[in-house]
Amino acid sequence: MAKFQGVDYYNIDSLLSEDEILVRNTVREFVDEQVIPIIEKHNRAGTFPFDLIKGMADIGLFGATLPAKYGCAELNNVAYGLMMQELERGDSGVRSFASVQSGLVMYPIYQFGSEEQKDYWLPKLAKGEKIGCFGLTEPDFGSNPGGMITRAEKKDGGYVLNGAKMWITNGTIADVAVVWAKLDGVVRGFLVEKGTKGFTAPEMHGKHSLRASVTPKRICFRNRKD
Ligand SMILES: Cc1cc2nc3c(=O)[nH]c(=O)nc-3n(C[C@H](O)[C@H](O)[C@H](O)COP(=O)(O)OP(=O)(O)OC[C@H]3O[C@@H](n4cnc5c(N)ncnc54)[C@H](O)[C@@H]3O)c2cc1C
Repeated sequence: MAKFQGVDYYNIDSLLSEDEILVRNTVREFVDEQVIPIIEKHNRAGTFPFDLIKGMADIGLFGATLPAKYGCAELNNVAYGLMMQELERGDSGVRSFASVQSGLVMYPIYQFGSEEQKDYWLPKLAKGEKIGCFGLTEPDFGSNPGGMITRAEKKDGGYVLNGAKMWITNGTIADVAVVWAKLDGVVRGFLVEKGTKGFTAPEMHGKHSLRASVTPKRICFRNRKD
């Protein structure tokens, strides 16, 4: 049984199903046993606890609401919210890692990706074998897509992206980035794999909070062909 028994002044637990409580207790125990004992060290050092990734995948944290055919837990949104609430109790940076992987990378791929992209990426992201990040925010216009400077251009066999993103959780360690860029004036999402020519994501050091979360200074796409 988890050490932490929760605080529930409004008896919200009475509205939860047995399955939702079971899911929450599983994550609660994971946080007690795996996160809390090691997180202070990582917070002080400003490092991400990579050793937690497999355990998080094993309890179905990544893409928890997505279909089982992709290796996901196929839970409802309440259960997903409870999972994130428990992780957040352990550490905001660890919660950010998991919610970006799930809600900002796996969900957009599932909702808007091609069948090929879904079949390739979702099972690997669910197992934590691959890490993703989500690049919307920019140095000049923040997270306002109206001012977005990053541009995509159609070329033979794909697209060329030019621009920079900032404050991108998991950006330094990501195998795939969901990047938002304007194509002919319309904001579109692109999957950019680590190692793509012109892609850089140097780490930002000395954050004041979310210290156990990795955030690059800037992610840059410099693929100009002209
Ligand atoms: C640790 C960290 C991790 C992040 N991870 C990611 C990530 O993974 N991917 C990503 O794309 N982004 C990420 N971000 C960026 C984050 O999503 C944005 O910084 C956030 O959405 C705020 O947007 P902004 O920077 O454009 O600020 P703004 O929206 O410009 O807000 C700046 C200030 O102005 C106020 N404000 C804004 N509009 C108005 C208005 N109309 N009236 C009155 N006040 C207003 C706001 O309340 C705020 O105080 C991250 C940021 C941090 C700090």
